[in-house]
Amino acid sequence: TNHIKTDIEIANQAKMKPISEIAGMLDLHEDEWEPYGHYKAKLSLDVLDRLDSKPDGKVILVTSINPTPAGEGKSTVTVGLGQALNKLGEKAVIALREPSLGPTMGLKGGASGGGYAQVMPMEEINLHFTGDIHAITTANNALAAFIDNHIHQGNEREIDPRKVVWKRVVDLNDRALRQVIVGLGGSLNGVPREDGFTITVASEIMAILCLAKDLEDMKGRIAKIVVGYKINNQPVTVRDLGVEGALTLLLKEAIKPNLVQTLENTPAIIHGGPFANIAHGCNSVIATKMASKLGDYVVTEAGFGADLGAEKFLNIKAPSANIKPEAVVIVATIRALKMHGGVNKEELAEENLVGLEAGMANLQKHIETIQSFGLPFVVAINRFHADSEAEIAYVKKWCENNQVEVALSDVWANGGEGGMDLARTLLSAIEVQPNNYRPLYNESEPIVTKIEKIAKQVYGATKVEFTADAKKQLIEFNKLGWGNLPVCMAKSQYSLSDNPELLGRPENFTITVRELRPSIGAGFIVALTGAVMTMPGLPKNPAALKMDVDKDGNAIGLF
Ligand code: ADP
Repeated sequence: TNHIKTDIEIANQAKMKPISEIAGMLDLHEDEWEPYGHYKAKLSLDVLDRLDSKPDGKVILVTSINPTPAGEGKSTVTVGLGQALNKLGEKAVIALREPSLGPTMGLKGGASGGGYAQVMPMEEINLHFTGDIHAITTANNALAAFIDNHIHQGNEREIDPRKVVWKRVVDLNDRALRQVIVGLGGSLNGVPREDGFTITVASEIMAILCLAKDLEDMKGRIAKIVVGYKINNQPVTVRDLGVEGALTLLLKEAIKPNLVQTLENTPAIIHGGPFANIAHGCNSVIATKMASKLGDYVVTEAGFGADLGAEKFLNIKAPSANIKPEAVVIVATIRALKMHGGVNKEELAEENLVGLEAGMANLQKHIETIQSFGLPFVVAINRFHADSEAEIAYVKKWCENNQVEVALSDVWANGGEGGMDLARTLLSAIEVQPNNYRPLYNESEPIVTKIEKIAKQVYGATKVEFTADAKKQLIEFNKLGWGNLPVCMAKSQYSLSDNPELLGRPENFTITVRELRPSIGAGFIVALTGAVMTMPGLPKNPAALKMDVDKDGNAIGLF
């Protein structure tokens, strides 16, 4: 058999165009983009002002069924679909998130698409890119330093050291940092207190960068961040500490979205990268808006399954940014469907129609979710090498029987050419299917109602339980006037429930909310369910074990 090229081999053999040419394709003015090397550029926010009165392009959201640990190929399909639309003569721009080093070094080994549907330069995108995540980490940790210094220097704002809620961050999976004690070593070294780290992509600063409209909006949001509480439980904010200006200054370049290209030179804007299981899971509003001004179609992705990223795109991001999505692509893979049908991980490469049939229930649930948002959609089967013809035929027939539009996506193997079917099916779905998009809840509904709606309508839960702590927080948050904010659920990505072991379409289950966290600057309340952690750990054999760099500086083992 032929050697199947790895993602990085394909990327290394591709011919990239100078970024000036990609900027030219988008009719950007000379002073609206700034090169970061030969193949990356930062885009000026002035583009949004110049094109303010231009109608928005059509926003297409790519989501998926509940994934396996390796990912189901949402980024791959997003990139491939953008390439296919361009091949069809449509002006499409892709909008993606920036990869985090946690999953890159951990399980995933990179997040820039795969096969012949990748964004480039993939090495740089996966490793540090233009430094945005560094800037977010620094702004987050600067605030932590300002808080501890404030307490040390006399604590004028009377922050209770036991009630500081602002955590430090690092963009790695590092479980040993989940709970730490800072300030040890006597009075010269600050005031000792319990602290902890989360991963940068779960930082409220990341969420703010992704939801802000411009620098002023960002500064206003940063000022509202709650860092902790006084003895009497009154919140203390960044504004109370007077550092919103400094923190915004640290982010003034990071707020500009990054322009790159795909293997087929389709423009892609990559900006912001919150996880969808512990944060809101969508690239920045600025990137999506800019892509929709620069292209007639924006293909964008939200993390993990439709129960997480898409739910948050449709309930949080789109309403807050006034984005009206046009259609949704639900990515499914035969192997993940079989896993949901009870097939063992080791046997996924073998044909198994019985397992596949049982696993369709998971896809069914996500279809119902997208329908409940009133959106046109198509199912994309992301084709893997091991999929049998009979299995593919089965999924197609199932969709047909359920009056669901479906297309095979072969973009991993064939790039844009392999996505033509999907692109045509999508364009016709936009034409034919009615669009009655509306979020599932109103902001004015109580927090409990919002959580219950998500848990019951999106996850299929029968009941939501709040721990005693969470109940107390509910009362306090309402008193503080935070009850009108949307809710950002933190939940396992592997299951529709909050128990990662329950695959398929679990029934008769309860969602347990164990803690609420205020993200007042971002503009939502985070609800932590089950045992989900905001600092992931590494697996026993992390992807890092296969990584290397040769003597000329070429990366090995990114995929
Ligand atoms: P997601 O965005 O859903 O997390 P990605 O698009 O990042 O998933 O893909 C995850 C991994 O799976 C990547 O390494 C990618 O190369 C690989 N992959 C995706 N689609 C296919 C496919 N059809 N065949 C083989 N590998 C694939």
